[in-house]
Amino acid sequence: MRRIAVLNQKGGVGKTTTTVNLAAALAAEGNRTLVLDLDPQAHATLHLGLLPGRSGPSLYDVLTQGLSLKEVRREVAPNLHICGSHIDLAAAEVELIGTVGRETILRDQLDAMLEEEPFDYVLMDCPPSLGILTLNALCGAREVFIPLQAHFLALHGLSKLLETINLVCKRVNRDLKVGGVVLCLYDAGTRLGGEVIDDLDNYFDGRKHANAPWADATVFRTRIRRNIRLAECPSFGQSIFQYAPTSRGAEDYASLAGEVQGRPAASIWLTPERRVAEEPHSLAS
Ligand code: ADP
Ligand code: MG
Repeated sequence: MRRIAVLNQKGGVGKTTTTVNLAAALAAEGNRTLVLDLDPQAHATLHLGLLPGRSGPSLYDVLTQGLSLKEVRREVAPNLHICGSHIDLAAAEVELIGTVGRETILRDQLDAMLEEEPFDYVLMDCPPSLGILTLNALCGAREVFIPLQAHFLALHGLSKLLETINLVCKRVNRDLKVGGVVLCLYDAGTRLGGEVIDDLDNYFDGRKHANAPWADATVFRTRIRRNIRLAECPSFGQSIFQYAPTSRGAEDYASLAGEVQGRPAASIWLTPERRVAEEPHSLAS
């Protein structure tokens, strides 16, 4: 079973798009998959076709009212479940201030639920901040995936994010690891994209020490290309696989799901410059 927080404190980098479509791809391959929408904006909830507030209780009720995840969970497609968000979740940050152990409420609920009924994947969509909701995700997760947009400020803020992960790891969740970086909104063929990837490789290489939670972090080889269908599908309450199954967006998230499950990314989804760098034999032959 894998418990993954999808996190970057910046907004608009592809967290929700990645959580929802990666979850849909994993579910379509037969994995029992649960999405936890921890963002009060409830974009993942809407993306999966639920109306926040009208579809029953939300994670707000789990974090502040003691409801179980099972009482909040909804099945939205075969193998695909979600515990939804609601704007009230923004108030949880304040309401929980005096609560002892407030950062482990979600973890405890998750442990209780998973003991009863296992899931193969739990994906947590985090808000664009490092507050108590994100802390709950980091305590409940074993892995962090970091979506990044390949532009020149991509690495800005990454140190702060890694520092937070390191602190959580030291103090409350020793099992936490940075699993990988997902490059989103990728413009294939631009020099900038390639430069960001090199910067990113150097960044992690320069910080590799055995005890750091990012010691084994990878940059996923699948790049999620910019694709208008990915931007359209949330307003229809559908994943990319329902909305546009033959789009590049569907191809890319299917490829990412393959990689997450331990298969190599299909080579057509690598950029040309990487393909040459990673397959030196093709130059010789
Ligand atoms: P975050 O959750 O990090 O704030 P989102 O996943 O909501 O980011 O993405 C921000 C915006 O960009 C959304 O409108 C989304 O539909 C759009 N978007 C995300 N990924 C892509 C992509 N690969 N191609 C085109 N649009 C995208
Ligand atoms: Mg989001």
